[in-house]
Amino acid sequence: MKALRYVTIGAAPEISEVPVPEPGPGQVRVKITAAGACHSDSFLMGLAEDAWQSFGYPLPMTLGHEGVGVVDALGEGAHGIEPGEPVAIYGPQGCGRCYPCAQGKENYCERAAELHITPPGLGTDGTMAEYVLVPDARHLLPLGDLDPVANVALTDAGLTPYHAIKGSLPKLIAGSTAVVIGAGGLGHVAIQLLRALSPATVIALDLSEDKLALATDVGAHHAFLSDKTAADNIRKVVGARGATAVFDFVGAQPTVDLASSVIGVESDLVIVGIGAANAQVGALAKPYDAAIRAPYWGSRSELMEVFDLARAGLVHVETERFSLDEAPEAYRRLHEGTLRGRAVVVP
Ligand code: NAD
Ligand code: ZN
Ligand code: ZN
Repeated sequence: MKALRYVTIGAAPEISEVPVPEPGPGQVRVKITAAGACHSDSFLMGLAEDAWQSFGYPLPMTLGHEGVGVVDALGEGAHGIEPGEPVAIYGPQGCGRCYPCAQGKENYCERAAELHITPPGLGTDGTMAEYVLVPDARHLLPLGDLDPVANVALTDAGLTPYHAIKGSLPKLIAGSTAVVIGAGGLGHVAIQLLRALSPATVIALDLSEDKLALATDVGAHHAFLSDKTAADNIRKVVGARGATAVFDFVGAQPTVDLASSVIGVESDLVIVGIGAANAQVGALAKPYDAAIRAPYWGSRSELMEVFDLARAGLVHVETERFSLDEAPEAYRRLHEGTLRGRAVVVP
């Protein structure tokens, strides 16, 4: 089968021919119908050799941690699911037995590192291929009649902002303001989630007029360029109270500094982007009782909730479609910042 693989550190990913994987005990083979390209893949492929080695991911590795497909074959002992069922792959897989896993929060598994459990495409072969192996049927959520291409990105670009925003909802009451930095794959879904789930005024920031147009198309009340005028523009909207919550989908030092400069008393600064994994937040100098959160992906039940929002027509993903052969081009466009919404690869 064809797969998009990261082979050489620093080089573009390549389309390779690899064997169709055989499901081992308990595993499920899924025939992929759509896979999404995330900036985290780009981030990893931008790492130099020693930083890459610190993750310990083996190469070559098939990319892709957003995936939907159809159950194709069950390994020995796998049960609870039937071939032919359309499914979405829950990516942040854990041990299934610790306390967070028992709550469905496998993204916060206590034992994943110790047991070397990694998401597809982030340590094990991922979804940018014709088939993928999933370690356990519990990671497969019913997709039902949701269109695979239009909805695959909800598994990360929907789930991650949903989890980030849900934690701040008690603060996002009438009269509140929410700032979204970066209206890309995750950010443009975040804007819709904020509009669907809260009465907050939503302010979006990005680097180009195209991205600002996307932000307003999907519901932002205000959209500003992320330059040296941004803080003043935000302050004109939020006033002396400051922003109630800032969701930073870039996570670079300039965006974290900008976020820190506009948050208000009792606000949330939520850093989702990993633009600079070492971005520093100015300690204690900021408004009273502001909280800093750095959430990771989301829980299994939250992914079901995101699918329900999509079924209700309250959230959608703007997608640009690529074939598997065109997948390197999808990552090139992602890196260049010229995609509208999410790149989706269809094998
Ligand atoms: P993306 O490339 O689709 O979107 C990023 C957007 O930010 C783009 O529109 C870009 O133009 C914009 N941008 C870049 N620099 C900016 C700046 N200085 N000010 C304002 N906007 C700026 O990326 P994505 O796939 O949506 O991912 C966003 C970030 O979230 C990445 O860092 C990714 O690695 C991270 N991520 C984190 C998690 C998590 O669980 N914490 C999950 C998925 C992705
Ligand atoms: Zn991702
Ligand atoms: Zn666990």
